[in-house]
Amino acid sequence: MTTHTTRMLILGSGPAGLSAAIYGARAGMNPIVVQGVQPGGQLTTTTDVENYPGFRDVVQGPWLMEEMQAQAEHVGTRMVWDTITGVDLSRRPFRLTGDSGDVYEGEVLVIATGAQARWLGLESEEALKGKGVSACATCDGFFFRGKRVAVIGGGNTAVEEALYLTNHSPHVTLIHRRDTLRAERILQERLHAHPGITVLWNKAVAGFVDGGGAAGLVAIDLHDTVTGERSRIDVEGGFVAIGHHPATELFRGHLELDGDGYMAVEPGSTRTSVPGVFACGDVADKVYRQAVTAAGTGCMAALDAERFLAHAAFESDRAAAAEPAGEKENAEASW
Ligand code: FAD
Ligand code: NAP
Repeated sequence: MTTHTTRMLILGSGPAGLSAAIYGARAGMNPIVVQGVQPGGQLTTTTDVENYPGFRDVVQGPWLMEEMQAQAEHVGTRMVWDTITGVDLSRRPFRLTGDSGDVYEGEVLVIATGAQARWLGLESEEALKGKGVSACATCDGFFFRGKRVAVIGGGNTAVEEALYLTNHSPHVTLIHRRDTLRAERILQERLHAHPGITVLWNKAVAGFVDGGGAAGLVAIDLHDTVTGERSRIDVEGGFVAIGHHPATELFRGHLELDGDGYMAVEPGSTRTSVPGVFACGDVADKVYRQAVTAAGTGCMAALDAERFLAHAAFESDRAAAAEPAGEKENAEASW
């Protein structure tokens, strides 16, 4: 068992964690990044990335994350292959335990553990991921220009994705398992007013249909949740929008979470309910969920952390200066 100590401990090696590391290293906080089970994060599970600024041509998700990691290491970040399984945030330095048995101590902690899309759990869905089936319209909608697409779900995300997809697609079908939407009223009004969107009520996905060869998704088989009747719609893109799981279980009871289980942060900052702990990226964001927003809040977390440490050092110097000389000598002797 090894104890790793650092000024700045970062959990997660996606765009949020690595951006925090780049800024943290350059600010002299010698960050350690604990990578978790998905080194590089969600973008390593996709191919074409066309909306991350700085690249004229499409780049590949895994390559982009390798570059981000290399940049973080180049400026002084230490990457560790481990997953955090235990936390003690009751005092600083914070003390976390890895799956390996190693202990990690950080004067500040940045949580960038991300979120995972929920999937329907069908075999055909797994087989066609990246070949017509996606969980992110903002990421992949552009690849379906001029094609028919469907969105599955009835919450804010599904309705927003359906509306967004009308920018690219001549026809969007929203498939929902009930006859009422969970989405906010204003979004529902926009959805129903849009001539390019059809809603199929009381329909569940029975399977995604593979056209074979390079075709990918060509149709979705449905069953009616009330009558049981079977039907099929022809689409080339299927967007599953049935919610996300933020990776926050580890922190339940230690940090404040919002009603959907996301990390609660002070608006306009990355500060969590425990001073010295910061959260960034998808783990604290249920609205934007993009690589560039994750990277942006990663930068914010490093800046917030640096200010926190500077303030803590200033307060401790001031307290030491205010102590009577005799007490200071005694304190130093006992230290
Ligand atoms: P993540 O990338 O989710 O990274 C989380 C990290 O935390 C991982 O490294 C994981 O191993 C680690 N972790 C989790 N738990 C622990 C733990 N207990 N201990 C230590 N580490 C832990 N966005 C775009 O902008 N453009 C796109 O084209 C695009 N395409 C996408 C395609 C797909 C298929 C998917 C799934 C997402 C796509 N996204 C895209 C969204 C984008 O990937 C996310 O918004 C972004 O990755 C979020 O970054 P993050 O750093 O917050 O978290
Ligand atoms: P959500 O509100 O949990 O909605 C998920 C939807 O998917 C529900 O309609 C649900 O159906 C459906 N669903 C769940 N499991 C399913 C399954 N197995 N098969 C078929 N359908 C299934 O998730 P979300 O829309 O991602 O939103 C999450 C949170 O983020 C919410 O608090 C939301 O308000 C917020 N959000 C806000 C904004 C914004 O403010 N602009 C944007 C996006 C998200 P049922 O309705 O039948 O349960």
